[in-house]
Amino acid sequence: MSDLHTRSLSELSAMLQSGEVSSVELTQHFLQRIEQHDAQLNSFITVADNALEAAKAADDARAKGESGALLGMPIAHKDIFCTKGLKTSCGSKMLDNFISPYNATVVEKMQQVGVVTLGKTNMDEFAMGSSNETSFYGAVKNPWDTDCVPGGSSGGSAASVAARLTPAATGTDTGGSIRQPAALCGITGLKPTYGRVSRYGMIAFASSLDQGGPMAQSASDCALLMNAMAGFDEKDSTSIERDTEDYTAELDKPLDGLRIGLPKEYFGDGLDASVNAVVQAALQQYRDMGAELIEIELPNSGLSVPVYYVVAPAEASANLSRFDGVRYGYRCDDPKDLTDMYERSRGEGFGAEVKRRIMVGAYALSAGYYDAYYLKAQQCRHLIADDFKQAFEKVDVIMGPTSPGVAFRLGEKMDDPVSMYLNDIYTIAVNLAGLPGMSIPAGFADGKPVGLQIIGNAFSESRLLNVAHQYQQATDWHRRMPQGFA
Ligand code: GLN
Repeated sequence: MSDLHTRSLSELSAMLQSGEVSSVELTQHFLQRIEQHDAQLNSFITVADNALEAAKAADDARAKGESGALLGMPIAHKDIFCTKGLKTSCGSKMLDNFISPYNATVVEKMQQVGVVTLGKTNMDEFAMGSSNETSFYGAVKNPWDTDCVPGGSSGGSAASVAARLTPAATGTDTGGSIRQPAALCGITGLKPTYGRVSRYGMIAFASSLDQGGPMAQSASDCALLMNAMAGFDEKDSTSIERDTEDYTAELDKPLDGLRIGLPKEYFGDGLDASVNAVVQAALQQYRDMGAELIEIELPNSGLSVPVYYVVAPAEASANLSRFDGVRYGYRCDDPKDLTDMYERSRGEGFGAEVKRRIMVGAYALSAGYYDAYYLKAQQCRHLIADDFKQAFEKVDVIMGPTSPGVAFRLGEKMDDPVSMYLNDIYTIAVNLAGLPGMSIPAGFADGKPVGLQIIGNAFSESRLLNVAHQYQQATDWHRRMPQGFA
């Protein structure tokens, strides 16, 4: 079957379970797709050389009576997740030589249910970026227009899913890195509630914000992936002890009476008119499905980008201090003493954006400035979280655009960090408040995909997936494929 890649992960799962296709066939098909198309996209850093062996093992297990929705399903991991025996670079020269001795919990859990790792996807260096242009391995191209960025930092995951080089991929979202690239590439992405998916073995950027999640064609695909990814992990001290749930259970619930909050701050200046038009049409669709639209306010939204750019760099400066050339990762040639080794290993191993964040973070945390910046930012973070708390007393979910514009041209924002940072203006508050958020394909502007963002209260992933799935039952934006990758 040569059109396997056009099927969603949910459809492929059914085919694996009925025996219509084997894991080896499926894995071979996607490996061929990667070989054929990835030169144009650069969405993979590493292709796993043992994928077919894992696929064979999955087929054998099924033949022996094992079952499961993801048994034998090939998927890709963002190169921020540690994979035992397979290079984990985090998009950085610093880790270009790093082969992890252990699996991240997300990778481990997926392997336990029989997922086949296809490879590792390209990303902004240490997940810092919104365009995938800060990667040591070069920019990723957007399959809808290869002169444009795929978004970031999970740009390789988004581009590879959009071009159907893999049925699904994992991503991470610190300030928007699952949702924004999902929007710019026309796929579905879910950033879960903070603490729902283990961060163990996920290379840390800003620990109080980082959260892993699924990226795939549809909400039902994401639900199947969440079933494998989510859950308590004693190896992650911020993992939440809470029963696991079946994220597919509520997908089919009707939306009658759903209260959708529309924050007026998400529809103001700065939002591209053509993006707004697409979002308005999606909202109309929800109204037709029985939802009620309610205007709300998130008055402290304006603080989210400035607060994030204190908190995230501060945490990053601490997290990235471990890359010192001593224990693992890049070490400069012929250091003349210890200081020279630290300085040159870090100076040569990190790229410009990472250095910018470390400097900003170290400054914000330094004695004398801590109260003025970091402490203040943490206080503002509470205000932002309180806004959501109040909103969720009145509404069930919040909707708006994922990103203020569509995919922009490669290089367009690289010299203007502030304009780059503003890409996440609608996504960052969700991380600061620890809430779950999704982006789903809602149409096109200028021939490029537009994402609708759906934000929920803590642990409402099932509800979000339900709300997204119902829309995807009524529309087919999520089924559109970029020309040239059919
Ligand atoms: N674009 C944001 C940043 O550059 C968010 C990145 C992320 O979510 N990992 O920090």
